[in-house]
Amino acid sequence: MTSAPTSSRSTTRGRFGPYGGQYVPETIMPALEELDAGFRAALANTSFQAELTSLLKSYVGRPTPIYAASRFAERIGSGPVWLKREDLAHTGAHKINNAVGQGLLAQRMGKRRIIAETGAGQHGVATATVCAMLGLECVVYMGEEDMHRQAVNVYRMRLLGAEVRSVTAGTRTLKDAISEAFRDWVTNIDSTYYLIGSVVGPHPYPEIGRTFQAVISREARIQSLEVIGRLPDRVVACVGGGSNAIGSFAAFVDDASVELVGVEAGGRGHALGDNAATLESGRPGILHGAHSYVLQDEHGQIAGTHSVSAGLDYPGVGPEHAFLKDSGRVHYVSVGDLDALDAFYLLTRSEGIMPALEPAHALAWVHANPHPGLTLVTLSGRGDKDIHTVATTSGHQEYLA
Ligand SMILES: *Cc1c(COP(=O)(O)O)cnc(C)c1O
Repeated sequence: MTSAPTSSRSTTRGRFGPYGGQYVPETIMPALEELDAGFRAALANTSFQAELTSLLKSYVGRPTPIYAASRFAERIGSGPVWLKREDLAHTGAHKINNAVGQGLLAQRMGKRRIIAETGAGQHGVATATVCAMLGLECVVYMGEEDMHRQAVNVYRMRLLGAEVRSVTAGTRTLKDAISEAFRDWVTNIDSTYYLIGSVVGPHPYPEIGRTFQAVISREARIQSLEVIGRLPDRVVACVGGGSNAIGSFAAFVDDASVELVGVEAGGRGHALGDNAATLESGRPGILHGAHSYVLQDEHGQIAGTHSVSAGLDYPGVGPEHAFLKDSGRVHYVSVGDLDALDAFYLLTRSEGIMPALEPAHALAWVHANPHPGLTLVTLSGRGDKDIHTVATTSGHQEYLA
């Protein structure tokens, strides 16, 4: 079941309709071309595919199961709700699928040094984990502000042997860390592989991320047919940069009967700066090397964002989602902080599964939109990392003191 990926829908020069592309300085173009060639050669190579398949099984723990959340479904008055359990993957989220794939790609391309950037720290942890496993050097750029907010993940990365570099420029958050990572890449292009953690960035990154995350829906589609005996009526996934959602949708895009729903972070309201609902409230623009929807003010300045869930708190979104929105194939919606927290409690109490706050947004949308048919929700990660946020938001700090 855990079959190796093929590039399901190739893109014309990295375009998804008008979106995508490579909006980068000339100095980065040779690195992107080398990456594109290396990626295509790896996909065509049977020993690369065999090694990836083997690691997904023995290291990541794939295939992850699908689970019938019957008590949750009953509580919300919906037809059957099944969960695709990415929370059971090694390190507790789907990000490891992409990190393992790109780690192997880097190794195959002869790059011994990996750089990454991270906001919430989850992608940094997944990257540091894979570098430890493959014996690769790992440098993670992180905004100073984010390092304070995510101290536990910083320590986790250091335990795994990564060097975490504090970025003190600008707002000292993710977008400044991304700029630093690009700067490092240009300077050390021969030795270094830049491992991007979602389906964002210049071509070929959106395609690479989708290729390595599509394992989610390849498995889920087969599991639905084998275990349930039919395809789901709806597939629902949360959208930050969009990697777990693209991975959840990829194998279902050609199934016209399957409705696809992407759920963004509605934060604390509709005003610019209060949410991270890029597809709902943003406009087309350029961010981090690609043309896609972007949260921006009337002068085109990138807006601040807010979400209770750090993994969704990003002002951009992968370009393929922009295309899928305009084409109408995927329906994008948003859910606010408080509803996501309610869904966190509901799944925890009704199923004994503590979801990460990111997929709690997808669960909250399902709660608000019950359906008589079969709903499949991707549970992109487990909630252990979020218990401090839940405690603070619920007035329970004294329990963690
Ligand atoms: C990082 C993260 C997300 C958001 O990233 P995508 O690229 O949109 O998938 C969602 N869920 C979890 C658990 C995460 O760690």
